[in-house]
Amino acid sequence: MTATRVLVLNSGSSSVKYQLLDMSDRSRLAVGLVERIGEETSRLKHTPLTGGDERERTGPIADHEAALKAVAEELAADGLGLDSPDLAAIGHRVVHGGKHFTAPTVVDDAVLAEIERLIPVAPLHNPANLTGIRTAQALRPDLPQVAVFDTAFHTTMPESAARYAIDVETADRHRVRRYGFHGTSHAYVSRATAELLGKAPEEVNVIVLHLGNGASASAVRGGKCVDTSMGLTPLEGLVMGTRSGDLDPAVIFHLARVGGLSVDEIDSLLNKKSGLVGLCGDNDMREIRRRIDEGDEQARLAFDIYIHRLKKYIGAYYAVLGRVDAVAFTAGVGENAAPVREAALAGLEELGLAVDGDLNAVRGDEPRLISPEYARVKVAVVPTDEELEIATQTYALAGKNN
Ligand code: AMP
Repeated sequence: MTATRVLVLNSGSSSVKYQLLDMSDRSRLAVGLVERIGEETSRLKHTPLTGGDERERTGPIADHEAALKAVAEELAADGLGLDSPDLAAIGHRVVHGGKHFTAPTVVDDAVLAEIERLIPVAPLHNPANLTGIRTAQALRPDLPQVAVFDTAFHTTMPESAARYAIDVETADRHRVRRYGFHGTSHAYVSRATAELLGKAPEEVNVIVLHLGNGASASAVRGGKCVDTSMGLTPLEGLVMGTRSGDLDPAVIFHLARVGGLSVDEIDSLLNKKSGLVGLCGDNDMREIRRRIDEGDEQARLAFDIYIHRLKKYIGAYYAVLGRVDAVAFTAGVGENAAPVREAALAGLEELGLAVDGDLNAVRGDEPRLISPEYARVKVAVVPTDEELEIATQTYALAGKNN
């Protein structure tokens, strides 16, 4: 009997999200989350999907090792223990793979060393991702551990899109270039959009708009990314929940020289106190829409700035691609916020883009088209599934050998 289960781990600095999937039918067996690792008030929420109720544990979970042990115990209680011969591999989300990792990779010492070398460009994420991998290795040293990189899908970007126009020698010395993020989502959604159009990924050009709390756009030509809005870090590009997205780099010098802010204060300002939250105090699009309905001008302006930036990227990527077959909306805002989709594409009829009001109002979990029949460019809503994509890539690489 071949092993068909894949455990997907998304390790943050104080959290671990996990899913156990059976790749024989791509079904989910269990999902869960450990939060506030290292605090007194840690919490594990476990949802078995093969029967049984959601369970919760509270109380201190000291570190990632203790977290993964607790996850293993919960899975074992459902008869899905990680010591099972049915487990084929463990797939890890790794945020930064630099230029080097262009595809999912089976982890060995050299891979760990390279992920570690990338810490200066991903100081918040890569250390946590490494801890997750090392902990899982200790738990099942015999099993393939696969690193699936957020940046990998974007490594096909041409140099003209990937380089900043700064001194080449300085840029290379410090690895300053545009890497892009949310790659697993852009890969999954661009492929699913082609499928929705009844075409092979190689045949279609898609603009993917991943609009969650973090947000990024990508231009995908024939299944390959040719440009994306996030850069060296996930700060560049669209207006996000708490991040500014694009700004004149001189704003930073100005805030330091004239405003007297330190580098760390500016970092925190632009990453945590900007975007929608900086503009109107709320980063949840539902709340912003509610305030707009009540006539709140500040919320209206925040929405308008968000949409203006989004529209600029749609236009830019239209020009980059030359021919666009579909625009796909995904993630929390993209999948749920009909007014965002409508506003982002309003007035673009000359580009062959239009949204059907009735179709746009329909809610659902399945990929669907919201453009009118006549539209030259299709508009799609495609729920993203990063965990399934990580599991699929992991299984394709490691599962068959087991
Ligand atoms: P994500 O990062 O993909 O989980 O997206 C989270 C964001 O999606 C939240 O901050 C909300 O702004 C947004 N969101 C979730 N549900 C809705 C909804 N029903 N309508 C509008 N926005 C939503």
